[in-house]
Amino acid sequence: MSTAALIVAAGRGARAATAGGLPKQYTLLGGVSILRRTVDAFLMHPGIDAIAVVIHGDDRDLYDTAVGSAGGKLQRPIIGGATRQDSVRLGLQALSPGGHGVVLIHDAARPFVSDSIITNVIAGLQSSPAAITAMPVTDTLKHAGSGHTVDRTIERTGLWRAQTPQGFHFGLILDAHDRAHSEHAVGMTDDAAIAEWAGIPVILVEGAESNVKLTTAEDLRMAEARLRAATASETRTASGYDIHRFTSGDHVWLGGVRIPHTQRLDGHSDADVVLHALTDALLGTIGDGDIGQHFPPSDPQWKGAASILFLKDAARRVAERGGRIVNVDMTILAEAPKIGPHRAAMQATIGAVLNLAAERIGIKATTMEGLGAVGRQEGIAALATASVELPRTDS
Ligand code: MG
Repeated sequence: MSTAALIVAAGRGARAATAGGLPKQYTLLGGVSILRRTVDAFLMHPGIDAIAVVIHGDDRDLYDTAVGSAGGKLQRPIIGGATRQDSVRLGLQALSPGGHGVVLIHDAARPFVSDSIITNVIAGLQSSPAAITAMPVTDTLKHAGSGHTVDRTIERTGLWRAQTPQGFHFGLILDAHDRAHSEHAVGMTDDAAIAEWAGIPVILVEGAESNVKLTTAEDLRMAEARLRAATASETRTASGYDIHRFTSGDHVWLGGVRIPHTQRLDGHSDADVVLHALTDALLGTIGDGDIGQHFPPSDPQWKGAASILFLKDAARRVAERGGRIVNVDMTILAEAPKIGPHRAAMQATIGAVLNLAAERIGIKATTMEGLGAVGRQEGIAALATASVELPRTDS
């Protein structure tokens, strides 16, 4: 059974004073428009087969800028009517030829709708022709007469605040809207009210406080602050160093690339000093020991191992902590071989493992001017640094 989502974005949002009189659904929240965030929540949900947005006739350019590139399950926008009720009816009529079994109707101004809320509403529609997201009322409710004087307290047992999405069997809600229109039953503030008016049973599915409707300028400010807190990240930098001595052989491994040479580097694995230094730098960004701790030289299973394995393991550890590698940078200390001809191959090899573009992978080389062990051509050393963006933690 095909499931459609209808997002209602045709309102003018008069209660949220925004810069330049922009309708609030098009204002930016954390750099992304509210409407785009809402559309993305449904685009990414696997249970939604088609999405259409009802917009105001004046907002086509705003819509194209905000959502135009989304593609995929998103259909062409529908021009709404004078009221929310009209806009939903026009949206349902436009979606009707798609033959959808159920439809979830959602306010554009609720961008924080979660995957689980969408899932729960769809699940509710298996046992009922209408299922809406709602929250039980927890505050004590007062009814005020004139002059803000309380005349009574309202029993809150059994009271719920309706949110969206509100889900319906498609044919039933379209028919209810059409009938309400022809019988001039107007002024209903949500689609569940239309269903109730038409005698369709509606069940409640518990939503979440976070699924807030952004109505006032204050709501927008709080949402911005909440988003900043949720997406706060920090960048960490760490270094690594390695050196291996030469022994008799005919090639060296550097940066995951086999390079013909008059000697080879001695080591338990393939002795790739560049990847060893880089692996340690990555482990350093998450405080997770060093390469020798995770791959002890005493363990025979790593004898002759390709060091790219060690780099893959460090990348996995960073990814498990939600880290994103920003850039890595290496300096190779060697009198020979020449590194320049192999730089692009090293960048390609390392880039494939770390999912990084070449411009984020620095590979430099220097000789030691004949000074010290490396200068005497007794071995090759490498330095590495890595920068990783990680979700900010309190500790
Ligand atoms: Mg080493």
